[in-house]
Amino acid sequence: MKRVALHWQILLALGLATLTGVLFRAVSGVDLDPASFEARALAISGFIGDLFMQALKMIIVPLIVTSVISGIASLQGVKGFGRLGGKTLGFYAATSLIATTTGLLLVNLIEPGIKDGEPNMAIRAAFESKAAAASDAEKAKVADAAAREAGDFLDTFRMMIPENVFSAATDNGQMLGVIVFSILFAIAMTRLPAAEMRTLREFFQAGNDVMITLTRWIMAVSPIGVFALMFPVIHANGPEVFWEMKAYFVTVLSGLGIHLFITMPIILWLLARIDPRWHFRAMREALLVAFSTASSSGTLPVTMRCVQDKAGVSKRVTSFTLPLGSTVNMDGTALYECVAVVFVAQVMGVQMGFAEQFFVVTAALLTSVGVAGVPSASLVAILLILKNSNVPGAETAVVALLAVDRLLDMSRTAVNIFGDSCAAVIIARSEGENIFPGQKNSA
Ligand code: ASP
Repeated sequence: MKRVALHWQILLALGLATLTGVLFRAVSGVDLDPASFEARALAISGFIGDLFMQALKMIIVPLIVTSVISGIASLQGVKGFGRLGGKTLGFYAATSLIATTTGLLLVNLIEPGIKDGEPNMAIRAAFESKAAAASDAEKAKVADAAAREAGDFLDTFRMMIPENVFSAATDNGQMLGVIVFSILFAIAMTRLPAAEMRTLREFFQAGNDVMITLTRWIMAVSPIGVFALMFPVIHANGPEVFWEMKAYFVTVLSGLGIHLFITMPIILWLLARIDPRWHFRAMREALLVAFSTASSSGTLPVTMRCVQDKAGVSKRVTSFTLPLGSTVNMDGTALYECVAVVFVAQVMGVQMGFAEQFFVVTAALLTSVGVAGVPSASLVAILLILKNSNVPGAETAVVALLAVDRLLDMSRTAVNIFGDSCAAVIIARSEGENIFPGQKNSA
């Protein structure tokens, strides 16, 4: 029997989860008796979903360490690394800037927080009611962020140099510190006598090969994982969740859509003459896993497999650009932060002029570097920007946004990882790599 391709299996799992979730919701509602069959099925699904998510997270640290070190050690010294690093960071900064500008234009054009020229009071009331109904965990997360000093923007950069690399490695929110350490380690490694350097390089390369095998195993069960993750999400989030803030959802989703389907494809074609359809095809599995998990870091192993195995980019380029990209390059998140901040300001009646919006863009760019690749991580950054912009009621608004965040989080995470993958193929092409072998437009 012919095997069904993995991306079809994942898509089928997504479809089945949507169907089952909607059905359960229609038949038994949202508040279930814990002893009922439906509640038990949801609990089991949640448990399996957690296992899948944890399996992905389990391999992040060893994958990042082994791939960054073995990748940089193969770059033949600091010069090769400098060129690649410069291109990568330049690309990340430029595309994030384009994304924030798209978001800003749309939110000013659509004005999702304004009704008949006035702040939309219905949304303000929805903020209150959604914040009141939010779970304790959601409230605690925002209260914790609100307790921080306004100047904590700098935390991102402080985390780049961890005071203890092992404790940074125990926190999936601190991967930037682990990456910086791995880069320094690899550069220092190239200064060792040749024999010692070879031993270490072989060690990390072998470690990386092991992580690749583990990734393949986890990917093989991803359809089950995706179903288990999505079924409770669909059950918990009916259309009424979105209805009161529909203009806001439309603004965010159209911004993300423009970046994913228009901006990035144009960049792919202009800079590297890569047919965007091929690239989308190569990235199918990673896009679906990013959408289902809402975590760029969790998706990193899958992103790396797709870019290397399907798009044909070398290990040398992927092993540096993708781990770094999964935490510092978040186009979808930067775009979302801009829209969310200006939207809340509109609802709360705060006029944002050019200077204020310029600050929002800069802050969104900086914080998107520091935001961890985990679900809803950017809400904390949004709270910080709102507080720095003196928007009243910021805490209530952010709790409300957090309560309705899932669909937007899934969508922006897919955009985030797509941006990283475009960087990898474009940089590989600029380094003279013959990617997408066999395709007509191969260099
Ligand atoms: N969930 C996003 C990611 O992992 C981060 C965010 O915007 O909250 O890429």
